Amino acid sequence: MNIIQIKDKQFAVSIPEADILREVERVAGEINRDLVGKNPLFLSVLNGSFMFTADLMKRITIPCEISFVKLASYQGIASTGKVKEVIGISEDLTDRTIVIVEDIVDTGLTMQRLLETLGTRRPKEIHIATLLLKPEKLKVDLDIEYVAMQIPNDFIVGYGLDYDGLGRNYKDIYTVVND
Ligand code: 5GP
Repeated sequence: MNIIQIKDKQFAVSIPEADILREVERVAGEINRDLVGKNPLFLSVLNGSFMFTADLMKRITIPCEISFVKLASYQGIASTGKVKEVIGISEDLTDRTIVIVEDIVDTGLTMQRLLETLGTRRPKEIHIATLLLKPEKLKVDLDIEYVAMQIPNDFIVGYGLDYDGLGRNYKDIYTVVND
């Protein structure tokens, strides 16, 4: 399936599964090397990172723990607009080595919010692993150590990422063609 239709948009395969897995394998190798002996706690940001998290974790060979968080958007007071709140952190993060596992960093604002929230829980260190990075869109200064793939500034779906709730189930990554 090279072209798919989701609602009003058509998408074409841009990164096949084999290419994704090769880069996930590379990132896992880097984490295994860098964080050995640190018993890292991986925090997977749902929903978008579920496939990346599964494939990444199958390749992590050092002792580690994994948990899942979600970002809930709610309407803040009028002037601030949408605010994202981090929900689901039940672990004690004090003195822990944390690895945030994200699907995509676009402007970086979501990641910045996550770092702020997690930072208040006194972890020892926070590392970032993202499947995708859109470098042209990045607005904030972030130290993203583990990036599986950099992509241009186009809207993508598949491998966990959605368009209006649909498309998360595809094993390849697709880019919009008729935007
Ligand atoms: P940021 O706060 O970095 O601008 O946005 C991050 C979030 O925007 C991601 O977690 C993801 O939910 C969404 N996002 C950004 N770019 C894309 C894209 O190309 N496709 C999809 N499906 N979601 C995206």
